[in-house]
Amino acid sequence: MDPKCPLCNASPKSSLHLFVYCHVARFLWASNEWSCRPDAMQCDCPGQFINFLLSPQVFFHGSSDREGFLLFGALVLEQLWFARNQAIHKEINFSPNKELQVVLKKFSEHHVVLFDVPLVLPRHFYSWIRPEQEAVKINCDAAVGLDHSFIAIVARDCRGYLILSMSKRVESILPIQAEAEAINLATCVTVNRGFEYVVVESNAKACIDALKAPFDEVPWRISSIIADTLWWAFCGQQFVFRWSPRESNK
Ligand SMILES: [Zn+2]
Repeated sequence: MDPKCPLCNASPKSSLHLFVYCHVARFLWASNEWSCRPDAMQCDCPGQFINFLLSPQVFFHGSSDREGFLLFGALVLEQLWFARNQAIHKEINFSPNKELQVVLKKFSEHHVVLFDVPLVLPRHFYSWIRPEQEAVKINCDAAVGLDHSFIAIVARDCRGYLILSMSKRVESILPIQAEAEAINLATCVTVNRGFEYVVVESNAKACIDALKAPFDEVPWRISSIIADTLWWAFCGQQFVFRWSPRESNK
């Protein structure tokens, strides 16, 4: 048996790694709308992780939020297990974007049946905030691996409906560069799609601050990415870049 994780081929194989800490797993967790990240926690055993899923230490607006997060978590675990089996038994490579699309699609289908309510409910201040009228809101995130990273963007309209999701491999393994690349991707994609009013959210405060700072105060590691992002934003109609804290880091 190969002792390496079949998804990233880097770390030793273990259930905690596969379901929580593999950069592939982190990529899927990053796409939940509650900013609730089990991979930001230090879990020493699978039981601790299961406890977190059942009662995450974050603020939820109501029981449907808690159940929604549990549903999302169950779908992520199912998809990771499926991807792991495909990799081991059929040697099919993991495609982050495809797996994410499957999870989000299954989530909307189950959510409508289970809760019979609109997908997005009013949230607490720190959670997913409904964008202003007619605005498109994009959440950006990055999962850093050992020799490359994955970045992801998820765009929703003002009613909370998914408009697009996209992921991309980037060669950097520096968190600040990967996060800046995610913001850049969100900006470039929304300009190309012709969205007029766009709110781009990231939990990388250094990157959001850099977009608003004088250019000589921008950290040099991200200065070219920031310059490119500002250029794209300038080509668009109206952009707001906003920091949104990750709850499970508090
Ligand atoms: Zn792995």
